[in-house]
Amino acid sequence: MDAPFLGGHPAVDFLNTRYTPDGRTVETLTDGRAFVGWLVAAGLLDQATAATCTRRFGRKALDASAEEARRVRERARAWLARWREAPDDDYRTDVSALNALLGRVHLRWEVLPGPELALVQRSRIDTADALVGLVAVQLAQLITEEDPARLKQCAGSQCSLWFLDRTKAQRRKFCTASVCGNRAKVSAFRARQRQSG
Ligand SMILES: [Zn+2]
Repeated sequence: MDAPFLGGHPAVDFLNTRYTPDGRTVETLTDGRAFVGWLVAAGLLDQATAATCTRRFGRKALDASAEEARRVRERARAWLARWREAPDDDYRTDVSALNALLGRVHLRWEVLPGPELALVQRSRIDTADALVGLVAVQLAQLITEEDPARLKQCAGSQCSLWFLDRTKAQRRKFCTASVCGNRAKVSAFRARQRQSG
């Protein structure tokens, strides 16, 4: 099963790479190949670089980076849950762990040829370790640029998905109105029927 992209931010989608549709847990970052595939799907790694990484680093190193990614993810999940409740704490230990991961990503500048020349910044991936750094960049952007009050977990009874509520009123409760929102409406309706019947 593929990881859903409903989080509204790559860091939140990263948390959702382990989720529980219908109450059973699904792990989508099962190995290095799956992790690299997710980085491409999330737009954090381009296809060509992904192919080079797969060829250069080999299966063992990539599997180890997926294992680390799963660990980083669960640590981030716990941190973000606390950050939401207590945004003013300094989180010194978590921040220094994050900075260590950020240090693995090296950036380089490149001009894209074509009618409209553009200067872009690209990340250079020298080792399999640096792949987790790409996720760390997103986590760092989330905590520095977004409002913790907007980070939510779906209110659906069988759902564990996280999302950023970008609505103005900030009253969004469900990952998807069509799935979890509807399901909640149906069960509330049934409960009312049971009461009146
Ligand atoms: Zn949901």
